[in-house]
This record gives sequence, C-alpha cells and structure tokens, in this order.
Amino acid sequence: MQLILATRNRHKLAEVSALLGGAVRCLSIQDFPAAPEVEENAPTFAGNAAKKAVALATWLAGGANGEGRMQPEECLILADDSGLEVDALGGAPGVHSARFAALDSGQPGNSTDAANNAKLLRLLAGVPPERRTARFRCVLALTELNPRSALRAPRWFDGVCEGRLGFAPKGAHGFGYDPLFLPVGFDLTFAELGEAVKNRLSHRAQALTALKAWLEASGTAHRPPL
Ligand code: IMP
Repeated sequence: MQLILATRNRHKLAEVSALLGGAVRCLSIQDFPAAPEVEENAPTFAGNAAKKAVALATWLAGGANGEGRMQPEECLILADDSGLEVDALGGAPGVHSARFAALDSGQPGNSTDAANNAKLLRLLAGVPPERRTARFRCVLALTELNPRSALRAPRWFDGVCEGRLGFAPKGAHGFGYDPLFLPVGFDLTFAELGEAVKNRLSHRAQALTALKAWLEASGTAHRPPL
C-alpha cells in the first residue's frame, strides 16, 4: 500500500518511515512541491491533523496538472499533528508548539526550535524539577484516496509520551523540544537518547503502533502494491 505523509517536516517523515517499516511505501508532501500550505488554526491536534490530511487528499484528487501532482489509483493519506503540553503552563504550548515563540511577536509562521526552547526555559525559570512534568502528544489522521468513491472521513490514532523538562538543552538528535524533554524512566533527553530509543517510546511511535494494528486488522497493509 502506498502512503503519502502530509508533512514538510523531514524529522517526522524519517520517524514515520522508520516506524512503519516495510508495511507501506512512504511518500511525503515534499514529493508534491505545489501542494497547498494548510493553516493549522484548529483548536485541537485532531482538528489540525484532519485538516492537513483532507487538504492534501482533496488536492491530489484534483488530478494531474503537470506540476508533479499525480492521480493515484488508491492510496492512504496520513497527517501528524503533535506538540508538547507542560503542566506548569496549563498545557501550553499545546497546539501552538511549532509557533510558540512567534506568538509573542504576532508574526505568522513557525518559530525556530531554538527560539521555542528558549521561551520555554524562560517561562519555567524557578520551577523545581518535580513541577516540570510534561507530555508529548501526537494525533495521526488517516484518510483513503480512492478514485471510485468519495473521500472518507478521517480516522484518528493517538499517542502520548510522559516526561519532564530539563533546565538547559542537551543532545544533538531529533528536533523541536527533544533537547529539553526527558521521558519517564530516563535521565537523558530524547535528543541525547537518539532515534532508536525515541522511536520505541515516543508519542509518535505509540500512535503509529495503533495505526499499524488497524492497517493489519483491516487488511490494508496486505493489499498488493499499486
Ligand atoms: P506541527 O507540525 O504543527 O505538528 O508541529 C509540531 C511541533 O511540536 C513541532 O514543531 C515541535 O516543536 C513539537 N513536536 C512535535 N513532535 C515532537 C517531537 O517528537 N519532538 C520534539 N518536538 C516535537
């Protein structure tokens, strides 16, 4: 089965491809440079994930137009919306994780990871270790593009990874808030632990495990490749 991941985030693509393994053939939105940008303004991860999946599926269903857009026979479209919820901040940055620092300036678009991490550390200054609890949350939205039927409503899969936040960025792996996040049971950040450990524990790994189970149960992963 072919799966197209509605993301321009190369880290997410790498994690999803590694975790889905050989079950599906993964393309990403980077293979469709003309695909429209989606404004992620829904109040929930599920809402934003659905928006991204449906927007790409609708655009792909429009057919070939010479811009690299294809008209697939049948394929799965997957979108990931994810973020960090910090208890001491009432669940922020949550759905605003990617543009946390930019919220202050009112500038549109995402902030750099360094700016987001710096803002988080500033807001948590003086908060003791036992109150620095946080979790990563991931919601995947999956829809099926089939030229013989109308676009299906998305199906959601979610995952949560509990942990706490450190006092300074540490480690060189991963992306986003990984240098600050220590998953439960570890005294190292995701950025120090590296991909293999992160891909066993992470919110994305858990959501993808649920997705894989559904693909297996529905027989989707076993259909012959297109
Ligand atoms: P999205 O593209 O709107 O889902 O943005 C998600 C944002 O949440 C990213 O830009 C990161 O800041 C953060 N985030 C989500 N997943 C992870 C992760 O696995 N590690 C670190 N940060 C993450």
